[in-house]
Amino acid sequence: MTAPWIAAQLRQLLAQRGHAWLLQGPSGLGQYSLALGMAQAWLCDQPTPDGACGHCESCHQVEVRAHTDLAVLMPETVMLELGWPLGEKAQADIDDKKRKPSKEIRVEAMRDTLEFAQRTSGRGRGKVVLVYPAERMNQVTANALLKTLEEPPGDVRFVLASEAAHQLLPTIRSRCQAHTLAWPTADEAEAWLREEGVPAPAAPVLLRAAGGRPEDALRLHRGGLDARAWSQWPKALVRGDIAAIADWGPAQLVESLQKLCHDLLAVRSGAAPRFFEEADLPPAASVGALTGWWGRLAETSRTVEHPFNAGLMLEDLVAQARAALNSKAYP
Ligand SMILES: [Zn+2]
Repeated sequence: MTAPWIAAQLRQLLAQRGHAWLLQGPSGLGQYSLALGMAQAWLCDQPTPDGACGHCESCHQVEVRAHTDLAVLMPETVMLELGWPLGEKAQADIDDKKRKPSKEIRVEAMRDTLEFAQRTSGRGRGKVVLVYPAERMNQVTANALLKTLEEPPGDVRFVLASEAAHQLLPTIRSRCQAHTLAWPTADEAEAWLREEGVPAPAAPVLLRAAGGRPEDALRLHRGGLDARAWSQWPKALVRGDIAAIADWGPAQLVESLQKLCHDLLAVRSGAAPRFFEEADLPPAASVGALTGWWGRLAETSRTVEHPFNAGLMLEDLVAQARAALNSKAYP
């Protein structure tokens, strides 16, 4: 179901003109859903001010990921995650283990898209190119897209969705009309999470764990994060009990430790915690130790995708965390 805060933004954007949009803002607010909603509405045979009709032939083709006038440009890992089919050659290469799915938007995919942009629209309602996450273009692909944005073939519209728009070429940003994603209220986000199957008591906890970003909260839920475990692991860690965090992957562990460290620093400076309830945080630690820990976590997060030894890394992270958490605070 379309989240209410996305539906409101969709309505607002569809009322405006523009052949190239950049949807920006932090992850987890629904950039992709909004971009797809726009694409579907632009292609729909009977669009309403609220968006696509949802039952015409064009809408059906979008639903089954087979619309001839819609090109999605994404890293292969994202296409697989979101259920979009890869090109025949790309799929064959991955099936034959010639290479892994790409985490960047590939030059080959960009070439296909530029060819697509030059063709005539199959259904006569123009064509749409959806790029997500746009910051995963490298310099070559970004420059190729820029050329098309500068001299767009008549009937093609672009919607770029980005979770790190500052990483895009400024020339790409300046060619697009920008829209910054709106944050939902906590009530809206929690109601939506419940509709998506998150148990009612867990919804606020997971929303908090995700820093208020509903889609990230849903991902945490689907990844198996238990709300009670989230509330309890910081104090358990201080006691030396790491059962709750032992099976987290290195990336999730580092991110979670960063959230804990962030909140402890926030509390020490008189601000409210963001990811945990204050009552679930261990007692105040020394600001110096927390700051040092923060720096080491930032360093680790840069190499976390390729840990030298995952087991050793976990031990190391836990030791660092406990040292910082048990440091004495001087009020
Ligand atoms: Zn339709």
